Amino acid sequence: MQLQDILYSQGFGTRRVCAGLVQQGWVSIRGPSSDRQDYEPCVDATAELDPEGLQLQVQGVNWPYHAKAYVLLHKPAGTECSQKPSTYPSIYTLLPAPLRQRPTKSAVQGVQAVGRLDQDTTGLLLLSDDGQFIHRVSSPKKHVPKVYQVTTKHPVDEKQISSLLAGVVLDDDPKPVKAAACEQTASHRLDLTLTDGKYHQVKRMLAAVGNRVEGLHRSQIGALVLPADLPPGAWKWLSQEDLSLLV
Ligand code: URA
Repeated sequence: MQLQDILYSQGFGTRRVCAGLVQQGWVSIRGPSSDRQDYEPCVDATAELDPEGLQLQVQGVNWPYHAKAYVLLHKPAGTECSQKPSTYPSIYTLLPAPLRQRPTKSAVQGVQAVGRLDQDTTGLLLLSDDGQFIHRVSSPKKHVPKVYQVTTKHPVDEKQISSLLAGVVLDDDPKPVKAAACEQTASHRLDLTLTDGKYHQVKRMLAAVGNRVEGLHRSQIGALVLPADLPPGAWKWLSQEDLSLLV
């Protein structure tokens, strides 16, 4: 694959822009089997390279080649999971431009959030440009468990927990929805595991049992846990091992 096409696939701009970046000396590379620690400059935009395992350095920024992008964002409070936010900044502003600009086969460019969290919800959010992956993880029919730490306005009691586990009826569907697991961790806190992913589901389920959500944090999807060392607003690439925890 030509270097300009590799850069284009990673979201560094049009092919013309990518060729310009290379010709102007802004791009260095390091191959997967390179024993050199340093990146080597490459000024030939049409140089044929194997992209797998290629480490790019573009304008001083290290960028490992990824055929598809799978990333994890620690969503901070006060951000919207929308490309066109109405009130709060978009989570997409927390990502570097190449992730937002990656060319895709669909009309929307760049990575997309795998499901949405409310503006005041914090925690684990996945983003990808792989449509099948997004569907597999976010579709309610696939029942991928999501774990939330809920802080409540009123004390949690046994009756509320048994109702959440037995199933509660929400206003848009006569079929009850139930928590896959529900464990009280403090007087006003519980860990809730859901497998369906309905709109505002945690808040509506807590309201249905007579309580109210004051704080909501998602700590886990499947067996993938939000890394403790990733601060709010930061993101990381998902490794193959991370991805295997989601299926
Ligand atoms: N349930 C909610 O009510 N809000 C979220 O952000 C996620 C799940």
